[in-house]
Formats: sequence, C-alpha cells, structure tokens
Amino acid sequence: MSQYLPIRFVDVRLEGDFWRERLDTVLKRTIPSQHAKLGEYGLLESLKLPQPPPPLRFPRHANGFTVQVFWDSDIGKWIEAASYALSHRRDAEIEAKIEAVIDDFERAQAPDGYLNCWYLGREPEKRWSNLRDNHELYNAGHMLEGAIAYYETTGRRRWLDVMERYVEHIRKTLGPGPDQKHGYCGHQEIEIALIKLYRLTGEKKHLDLATYFINERGKQPPHFFDVEREEREKKGWEFQRYTQGNYEYSQSHLPVREQTKVVGHAVRAMYMYTAMADLAAELGDAGLRQACETLWDDVMETKMYVTAGLGPSAHNEGFTYDYDLPNQTAYAETCASVALIFWAQRMLHLDLNGKYADTLELALFNGALSGLSRDGEHYFYANPLESNGSAERWAWHTCPCCTMNVSRLVASVGGYFVSRADDGIAVNLYGGISTTIETAGTRVALRETSNYPWSGDIRIAIDPETDARFDLKLRIPGWCRGAKVAVNGQAVTGTPVNGYLTINRVWQKGDVVTLDLPMPAERIYAHPGVIMDVGRVTLKRGPLVYCVEEVDNPGGRVQRLRLPRSSQIRITPRDDLFDGIVTLSADAVAIDESDWSTLYRTTPSREGKGTLTALPYYLWANRGQGSMVVWIPEA
Ligand SMILES: [Zn+2]
Repeated sequence: MSQYLPIRFVDVRLEGDFWRERLDTVLKRTIPSQHAKLGEYGLLESLKLPQPPPPLRFPRHANGFTVQVFWDSDIGKWIEAASYALSHRRDAEIEAKIEAVIDDFERAQAPDGYLNCWYLGREPEKRWSNLRDNHELYNAGHMLEGAIAYYETTGRRRWLDVMERYVEHIRKTLGPGPDQKHGYCGHQEIEIALIKLYRLTGEKKHLDLATYFINERGKQPPHFFDVEREEREKKGWEFQRYTQGNYEYSQSHLPVREQTKVVGHAVRAMYMYTAMADLAAELGDAGLRQACETLWDDVMETKMYVTAGLGPSAHNEGFTYDYDLPNQTAYAETCASVALIFWAQRMLHLDLNGKYADTLELALFNGALSGLSRDGEHYFYANPLESNGSAERWAWHTCPCCTMNVSRLVASVGGYFVSRADDGIAVNLYGGISTTIETAGTRVALRETSNYPWSGDIRIAIDPETDARFDLKLRIPGWCRGAKVAVNGQAVTGTPVNGYLTINRVWQKGDVVTLDLPMPAERIYAHPGVIMDVGRVTLKRGPLVYCVEEVDNPGGRVQRLRLPRSSQIRITPRDDLFDGIVTLSADAVAIDESDWSTLYRTTPSREGKGTLTALPYYLWANRGQGSMVVWIPEA
C-alpha cells in the first residue's frame, strides 16, 4: 500500500468556525497570558542565573524534589506553542518576547554546550547525576522542539544553533562508549525531539541518538537508574524518591520491544510510544511496530476513558490495572490525551487505519480540549468524569506542563486533518480546512467545508491543476453508521476498508465530493469490568462525548438524575451557548432530597419527573462551579 504521510500544519488553513474560534483564542489570549504567567511565577527569571541563586519558589519536597527542575521545559514548550501560533499570524510583540528568552538561554549556555538553567544556576557539580528524576533530557527535548518550531516559522536559526550545540554535548555525554553514561531520561520526550531534528536536518546522527535512548531503555542488569543511584549514594546526594526501584513508572522495567502492557506514568508512556512508532517508520523496524500495536490494543481494550482520558491514578499520574476507570477521581492528565494524539498520528502513518484516527479525534475533541477553558486562560490538569461541584479550572499550576501542551496542540491542529501519498490524499478529520497537496504529479487544491462537529454534512472541493488519477481516501468514522458519499452528485458505492472509503478516478477541476455522516445521539455503555460504570450510560453524538452539568440542570447536584432507557434523546441546536453548540436533552427521573433528615433510612427516596440536559464534555466548568457527570445512572 502507498505510504501516507502527514502534511505540515502550516500548509493547512483552518476555515471552519469550530477550530477558527479555538485558534483565535489561543493566538489572542492563551499565548500572551502564558508568557505573563511564566514571568509572574519566576520561570523567566530562572534563566538569568544570578549568583547566589534566589530562594526556591517551590521548596523541595521531603524527598528532595522540586518542580523547578523542569522549568526549562515549560519555557521551551511555550516557545513551541507561540511559534505555531505565529505561523498563522506574525506578531512582533510575541516574537520580541521569544527573542528575549533566547538571549537568556544563549547567555546561560556553558562553553561545552550544556544548557540546563537549574543545574547551571544551582547545582553545577551535579549535572547528569540523576536522569531518573530530574528531567535533564526531557527539558532538552522540549527546548529542542521549541527551537525547531521557531526556526520553521521565522527562519531564524539562533535558538536552533544553541540547541544543536547542546545536542552535541548530549551526544558526547550519553552513548555506548566506554567514557559515556549508558543512560536515558526518566521522563521520555527527547526521543521525539531528536527525530524531528533528524527530519529537519537530514543528519542521521540525531536519529541514531533517539534510537540509542529507546534501545537502551530497560536493559538490565545493571539497570542504569541503579548505577547512577549508587554513584549518588557514594556522594551523599541520594534522596528516597518514590520512583526508586519503580521502573514501571518510567516504562524502564523491560526493554521496550518486550513491553506488552501499558504501565506507569501516562505522559511518559505516550511520549515513548510516539517515539517508538516514529522509529518503527523511519527504521522499518518490525519489532518496534509490533510492540506499538500490542501496547495500542492494551490501552484501547482496558485502560482508556470514554473521553480518551488516560491514567486513572493521581499517585503515579498514570495507569493502574485493567478496567480501573474511576470517574470522580480520574486523573486523566491533559498532557496524556495530547500525547495520545501524537501517538495515534504516528500509528496512523504506519498503517492508514481509521481506528487510529478515531482515537485521535476522540482525544482531540474530548480529553485534550477539555484542558483549555473557553476564555483561553484557564486550565484543567486532571480531567475527571464526575464532580461533586468542587472542581474548578485554574489560571496556573505549580506544574504547568498541561497549559502549553494544549496550546501547542490547538495552534498546530491543522496538521492532523489530511495525509498525502504519491498517489493519493487521505482526509482524516473534518471541520473546515483548505490546503494544497502535491500528488500524482500535480498540485491539488482541497477545500473541505462543514459545520463539523455539530453537523456531518461535508463538502469537499477537489481542484487539481491538471487532470490526474489518484485515490481520495475519506475516513468514515467508527462511530458513524449509514454514511453516504457522492461525487458531483453521483452516489459512490463501495465499502470502507480499515475505516477509509477509497475513490479512485481521474479528478478534474471543479469536482465536488459530498459526505453525509449521520449524527444521531447515542447511548454508550462500558464493559461491565469497569465497575464504576455498571448501570450507567453516557451520551455521545458524532465525536463528542456529553456530560450533564448543574448549571443546565438546576435543582441540586446532577447525581440525583437518572435516565430511563425508554427516554428519547432530543438534539437541540443552541445558538445562544458558546457561539453555538448542540445540546442533548431527555426526560429523566429525579430523586427528591427534600424529605430526608437522616443519613440512612428504610424507605427509598421519592422520585419525580425531570429533564436532563447535556452539553459536550470539553465545555464543562466554563460557567462557574457545579456538579457534573459523564456516566448517568439508567432507570
Ligand atoms: Zn500535564
């Protein structure tokens, strides 16, 4: 089969209302406000390296750890997000702020290329002594991704030059040689960045270094984290971290090709699988690909929330055991859903299969997008599926990883819509885009127009410069039944294969494809192994998972509502809510709390008739605090 590859997000114009609004909000509000927070919370100041360094803003925990060790990564990720935003619309003020950060990083860089402001400013003698906990390579990865994005947007090389010098230092320090540390980072990330640098420069040494980190991970005995711990103990530098000996936490318990179960910290896992899938494609490595497919099946079959949230537990910010998907205490970190999108995109380009695009879309519209508020300046780190009313979006977090992860995702979302091959175009997502793609020896202008995700009526104009025969592959979402496709008004017959309907013909200027994806409201049930959801149902329409919020259901906590199996679900466009959305409603049964006076009693609650109104999950907690459920008890 032809090899499908993503196209650059900068080559895709977002024209549909849904993503246009999110992108404008990120450009106008999120990126500037994030810079202000980086200043307010001391992150920008941390690049200045005054001696002696100022007191810590976030003192060390009892186990010796402070979040300040990964501040460089947050700044790198902000540059990356801002660069993606700048590629849509240049902004001299934001560029000046990025240049000022680069000035500081450039000044801070050691003569040997090393560049980590925590260690340079506070513990220069301890460089590369604790890869398990202290995120040195993770920081470098995010800084490098920022440098690549800034270079690609502006053509300015200075930050990239700084980071290439740092990468050379890393290459000298870590590797298989006798004088090198045979190590890798406790928090995977740099592998993704190095593969991007390889794709940018064509220099294979960067791919080799990413491959080294992936191949070295989990080898034992001796385990690298034990070797470096023993070194620290000799010097009196070791603190008892809960990560000690817990190799599953960082997916270093086994060589990566032998891993079959998704374990540990969810974001680390997703970043590692992303890099593994990238390497499987670059190296044609069947073992890595097989490992990715096995791990994919494990997470899809037993470990993913219906919102595509990942990692139920706050304790390890990650995975526990099969079917453990509690709702109110769900951790489901925004970063994990964003990283799942990265992994799904890599899997999609190993094998153009709609199951990967389905998950990508689910995470995009639900688990990831819920992390960013409507105003673009408030966030969720954890994305629970139920609230007693105490959950609230915050303006900043002591660990702000999720803030810039969601902004970099939205600012680059155009890159997920379409893929190309030498003899075809695949449309993976819908939502109003235009782009020009080279295939089959010609340039093809493609404009997809729709009001997706609110409507499944889609029109795609295909305008090749010269007539050309190629495949147009349309994703028929896994949630959709009864899709209808027509070319210039003539119905297309055929069955989707692996989630894509292929139309092979000689395309001519003016050709129009129409796609009708019916979007009824549907009830979704969980496997009974998910004991928290037994007897419960969630509502879904198209790619959107719905939730029931107190603000739309006055009269007390929404946990009092039950949805009879016989109730019809009504679909209601609401132009007055959030610039126009679609809500779902149904006749419900409501428990009456008014005659209760004791904690327990022998008579059941009185029940009355009520109405239940649901809105898309990603929009919850934008209108003040209140209770919320995704999984509704059925009556
Ligand atoms: Zn995060």
